[in-house]
Amino acid sequence: MIEANPCFTHLAPGYLFPEIAKRRNAYAAAHPEAAVISLGIGNTTEPLPPHIAAGMKDYVSALETPAGYSGYGDDSAGELPLRKKIAAVWYNGAVQESEVFVSDGAKCDVGRLQQMFGASVHVAVQDPAYPVYVDGSVMVGAAGKSPADAHGYADITYMPCLPENNFFPVLDSVPANSLIYFCSPNNPTGACATRAELETLVNFARANGCIILYDAAYAAFIRDPKLPRSVFEIEGARRCALEVNSFSKPAGFTGVRLGWTVIPEELQFADGRPVAALWSRLTNTFFNGASNIAQAGGLAALDSEGLEEMRNLTGFYLENAALIASVLREEKFRAAGVEVFFTGNAPYVWVRFPGRKSWDVFDRILSDCQVVTTPGSGFGPSGESFVRFSAFGHRENVAEACRRLSSRLSL
Ligand code: PLP
Repeated sequence: MIEANPCFTHLAPGYLFPEIAKRRNAYAAAHPEAAVISLGIGNTTEPLPPHIAAGMKDYVSALETPAGYSGYGDDSAGELPLRKKIAAVWYNGAVQESEVFVSDGAKCDVGRLQQMFGASVHVAVQDPAYPVYVDGSVMVGAAGKSPADAHGYADITYMPCLPENNFFPVLDSVPANSLIYFCSPNNPTGACATRAELETLVNFARANGCIILYDAAYAAFIRDPKLPRSVFEIEGARRCALEVNSFSKPAGFTGVRLGWTVIPEELQFADGRPVAALWSRLTNTFFNGASNIAQAGGLAALDSEGLEEMRNLTGFYLENAALIASVLREEKFRAAGVEVFFTGNAPYVWVRFPGRKSWDVFDRILSDCQVVTTPGSGFGPSGESFVRFSAFGHRENVAEACRRLSSRLSL
């Protein structure tokens, strides 16, 4: 018999979302009459906007013709027109097209990046964080040489991000030469780093030989013009950061699948090799490029009509988030000590229930209101006592969930 990859031995059991699904299904089986509403996962619910969809339809029609047919792209990094347009429109020319690597999504890129950094890199994560950063690090052997306990893995640096530090970590505990995962706007807290905070992060990384893996998957939700939408708005970031991004949330491409990674020319490994060169080598080995249909959708999304559609779509989800935040700020919750964190720049509402365990609050909201949330402890030790409400939902479901929270939730 073949042994399993030993890196998987210390993987903490149960990825968060399967456990949520298990509890939801158990509840639904026991209460078949209940209409359960999910404000749990970050999956988009609204249809593709027409201009963006038309870009893909036209492309599919062309694929039916000899002249319009295309197979593998010339390079796994994506079609040049899309790379150019991402550089010009999304980054306003702050990055070159050659630095943009189109992909099938930010999550897939994070997994491939983890392979590139390998088993010997030290990892630092915001705590709480998108679970892929930690689980993926364990899978490639960069972490998890000791089993996880309630404080997480001993060989990962967890950087607590709490209301008490305005969700921006103290960096002093991060060892030199770490790979620092940083997500802004953040999943799950919704917190968005200010320019001054990102300057602190970039300066720290440069002074300490670190590389920042900056996850900007929610950048399109930023409405405050003072907040940076990309780490490359910060001086010096080109020498210490790479950025993953995605059409998933702004264009409704969670199922279509399209994202990208920017790796600046200046970014180097310790031996002077450009990170982009290794990335090309890796992606050309394991990846045959994003779907050409999805890339046509990406091109349409970056037209002026597409940009407006993305703004409307993200605006819709932000309105949902505002509804959820406003109900959780009602007097009955305030009196119970509930604290709501929502600044209007992310599709998540992060809520603290002091003195309570996240999973207990999750179970209580499910049983009182038939609403599924995400327990904050699933995102890291500092997520304990918090619950994340996702704003991805049809308006009538979100409104109904709000009514139930207001009228039925007893804490
Ligand atoms: N990064 C963060 C922080 C996310 O929350 C998600 C999805 O929820 C992703 C990346 C995944 O993006 P994609 O759909 O492009 O793989």
